[in-house]
Amino acid sequence: MPIPIASKLPKVGTTIFSRMSALAEEHSAINLSQGFPDFDAHPALCEGMARHVRAGNNQYAPMPGVLRLRELIAAQIQHYRRVSCDPESEITVVPGATEGLFCAIMALVCKGDEVIVLDPCYDSYEPAVELAGGRAVHVPLTAGSFALDWERLTAAVNASTRMIIINSPHNPSGATLTAEDLRQLEHLAEQHDLLILSDEVYEHLVFDDREHHSVLQFPALRARSIAVFSFGKTYSVTGWKTGYCVAPPALTAELRKVHQFVSFVAVTPVQLAIADFMQEYPDYPATLPAFYQAKRDLFCSALQTSRFGLTPSAGTYFQLLDYSAITQQPDTALAEQWTRDHHIAAIPVSVFYAAPPAQHVLRFCFAKNDDVLLQAAEVLCAI
Ligand code: GLN
Repeated sequence: MPIPIASKLPKVGTTIFSRMSALAEEHSAINLSQGFPDFDAHPALCEGMARHVRAGNNQYAPMPGVLRLRELIAAQIQHYRRVSCDPESEITVVPGATEGLFCAIMALVCKGDEVIVLDPCYDSYEPAVELAGGRAVHVPLTAGSFALDWERLTAAVNASTRMIIINSPHNPSGATLTAEDLRQLEHLAEQHDLLILSDEVYEHLVFDDREHHSVLQFPALRARSIAVFSFGKTYSVTGWKTGYCVAPPALTAELRKVHQFVSFVAVTPVQLAIADFMQEYPDYPATLPAFYQAKRDLFCSALQTSRFGLTPSAGTYFQLLDYSAITQQPDTALAEQWTRDHHIAAIPVSVFYAAPPAQHVLRFCFAKNDDVLLQAAEVLCAI
C-alpha cells in the first residue's frame, strides 16, 4: 500500500518550461520555449569561473553573499539607477531569483494574507504564496497591451492584502511598467500599508530607448519593497542560478532568516567569477538593449510574411505571436502539436492565468543565435 500523501500543492504539476523543453528535445524541435540563451556567456566570465574553481574557492561563502560582490552590486545599482544601497544590510546574494522570490514570500506572507499577482504571472509566485499559507488574488493585466489595469488593481485591495507582486519587464508579455505606474503603486502601497515584491530579472533588457523603472528609485516604494534580480539573465548564465535581493534592512533581516535555511548560501566560485566580471566590465549591461533589440527586430522582420500578429516586445527576451489568423485551437495543445509536427517549440500563455482570456498567443524566446531565429521564422512563415 503506498503511503497516503496530502499534497501541499495539489494543483501543481511539472512546469510548462520543463515540459516544453523536454518535448522539444524529444522531437528535435527548434526550442524557443523555455527562456535561456543558446549562445555562451562572455569568455572572461567562464574563465573566471574555471579560475576560481581551480584556485580552491570551493567552500561556503558568507550567508548573505561574498561581500565584494555585494559591494559591486551596490555600485552597479548606483550607476544604473542612481540609488545607493548598503551592501551589508540591504543586499543578499541568492542562488537564483526563484529562491529569492520564494524566501521573500515565505518570510513576509502570513497565514490568511492575500497577495495580488498580475496575470499572466510567472509560475513560481502562487505556489510560494500557498506554501506560506497565503492566498493569491489574480488581477489580469489589460488584454492586448498588458498594461496595469489600475481600476481592477485598486478594487482588489482590501484589509487582508499584504503584498503585490509586480514584474517589469514582464514575462511572458514583454510589457514594461511606466514611471507613472510606479508612482501610482507607491501611493496605493502607502495608503494600504502594503509590501511590494518586484521581480526585475529583465531590468537590462529594455528596447527602443525605454528606461527601466525600478522600485528602488521611488523612496516610499523602496521602503516597503523587495526587489529581485538575476545574474542568469544579465550575464547569459541561467544555469549558474545566481541572483540577488535588495530590500531595506528590516525586510532583508527577515528574508535572510528564511534564505539561510532554504539554501544557506549561493555558490562560491560563481559569486567570485561574477564579481571579477562586474569589476572588469562594468559597462556590459549597457550593451544588452542593442544586442537583444537586434535579435527581436531580426525575428520580427523575418515574420513579416507570416500570418502571425505581433507587437514588438518592449523588454525581456520574449516575443508574443498572435496565431488567431491561423487557427482557434487552444494554445497548450497547439504548442505541443507544433513541437511534434513543425519542430518548433513555444510557450502557451494561457498557463500563466487563473482565468485565461479568449486570446490565441504563444511566447517565443529570441535569446538565440541569428541563424536559429531565421530558421525558426522560416518554419513559422510556412504555417
Ligand atoms: N524563466 C524562464 C522562462 O520564462 C524559465 C525558467 C524555468 O524554466 N523555470 O522561460
